[in-house]
Amino acid sequence: MSAAKYIFVTGGVTSSLGKGIISASLGKLLQARGFNVTIQKFDPYINIDPGTLNPYEHGECYVTNDGAETDLDLGHYERFLNVPTSQANNVTTGRIYNNVITKERQGEYLGKTVQVIPHITDEIKRNLYLLGESGNYDFIITEIGGSVGDIESLPFIEAVRQVRWDLGPNNALVIHLTLIPYLKAAKELKTKPTQHSVKELLSYGVQPDILVCRTEMSLPLDIRKKLALFCNVHLNSVIEAIDADTIYDVPILMRKEKLDERVLAKMKVQSKTEPDLEQWKDFLGKLKNPIEEVTIGLVGKYVTLPDAYKSIVEAFVHAGAQNDCRVNLKWISSEDIQKESVESIVKGLHGVLVAPGFGERGMEGKIEAIKFVRENKVPFFGICLGMQCSVIEFARHVVGLDHASSTELSPKTKYPVIDLMEAQKKITAKGGTMRLGAYTCKLKKGSKAANAYGETTIQERHRHRYEFNNAYLEKLEEAGLKAVGINPESNLVEVVELKEHPWFIGVQYHPELRSTVMNPHPLFVSFVKACINFKGIRN
Ligand code: GLN
Repeated sequence: MSAAKYIFVTGGVTSSLGKGIISASLGKLLQARGFNVTIQKFDPYINIDPGTLNPYEHGECYVTNDGAETDLDLGHYERFLNVPTSQANNVTTGRIYNNVITKERQGEYLGKTVQVIPHITDEIKRNLYLLGESGNYDFIITEIGGSVGDIESLPFIEAVRQVRWDLGPNNALVIHLTLIPYLKAAKELKTKPTQHSVKELLSYGVQPDILVCRTEMSLPLDIRKKLALFCNVHLNSVIEAIDADTIYDVPILMRKEKLDERVLAKMKVQSKTEPDLEQWKDFLGKLKNPIEEVTIGLVGKYVTLPDAYKSIVEAFVHAGAQNDCRVNLKWISSEDIQKESVESIVKGLHGVLVAPGFGERGMEGKIEAIKFVRENKVPFFGICLGMQCSVIEFARHVVGLDHASSTELSPKTKYPVIDLMEAQKKITAKGGTMRLGAYTCKLKKGSKAANAYGETTIQERHRHRYEFNNAYLEKLEEAGLKAVGINPESNLVEVVELKEHPWFIGVQYHPELRSTVMNPHPLFVSFVKACINFKGIRN
């Protein structure tokens, strides 16, 4: 194929319908037919990126190799397609306006009144076309955040209208994801909200080509016919998206509904008759037929909102399937853990993961949990703040550095075993200023981490300001906490592990961000294996 083709995914009726999963599933189906696909997300909020958003507001902040702080849907794109994304894959209204205002100050529009149309919409289109211009992709799927009718998403919808006009229907297509509610009392599926949302889209000049309908019940023919007639789409372009047991079923369900075929036919693209989904189905087979079962405690601050740890949860799904093991996660609020309660909370778990995070709240609970699992040889995995807590715990209770801490949590601590990175000391601005993105790390041969990876040079993604303080390296190593992963350029400690423990690893980076269905992360795979072993020994 020559020029890239653009597929837009809009949402109607309500948010949280799963535009990200539908986009990723369609991307998977097209990729499984041999096309090169990427997915981008346009978010209508004013933040330049979600890096400054509280996870309670917006879920996890996903970090790409190039250090962009992005929406969690990019995680789904990578997990489904197994292809890295970048800053170009996530653009917010804030970034668009920032670019336009910067250009205005530089005199780029001299003499002109700068307006939403054409200047903002042109900047949206410029960003839209960036990925296509790389020549790397046959299809660019663009998810438009928010729901049709929101004031904020108007400029994006207008840009979609213009792109369709510019490129023509063979090169630009609109999929509208909508909800068909089931009214229990009336025992009926209702199409009216969808009709209204399509009307709204039409009022902006956009006719959807395909309707993807989220529903709890299968859509009978008469409902499909009604939707087709009142929303001006072909009957075979009314696609049912029934609630699934797992998000990883969705590509298969979309295949059954022939979403990929409809897209290709409408865009006049020839393709082989069937996408190759063998590997995907193998994964699903393992996921649904586990032989083992373990329960792992996830200790964190944002446990009431599992989306805050989306990539960790999914990495356990991938690693569990790889081990033929169902991984149950027990969510533990670090604030609930005290010296007296730790045993009752952690007892019965086959492993504990201490999650990434910011700020002091819940910190002492994390340290109590780590002390317990270290002493009781329960498998432990610490990620970012979790790793930092493991260093603090070890410094306090094994090395004897009373009240050792991180300067993030206790700025005046006598023993700052975790301290602000040199490069961070003068930074005051908050957005995009952490140590972000992929860095190389060298692993010590023979370490548990190196054995898990099966190699000694790795690249992992970061998002933090604080680091292991090398002034304490010798003391900590002598006492048994080994620094087995080092950044070869900055000498920063990236991985620590305990020698006298079956599986105790802390990583300064975020391995969860690189776990995909096709490439489960080796540390998660190894950790789950250790949890299975621990269960076997304990029973
Ligand atoms: N708050 C810690 C830091 O900034 C850890 C960050 C994280 O867990 N992502 O270094």
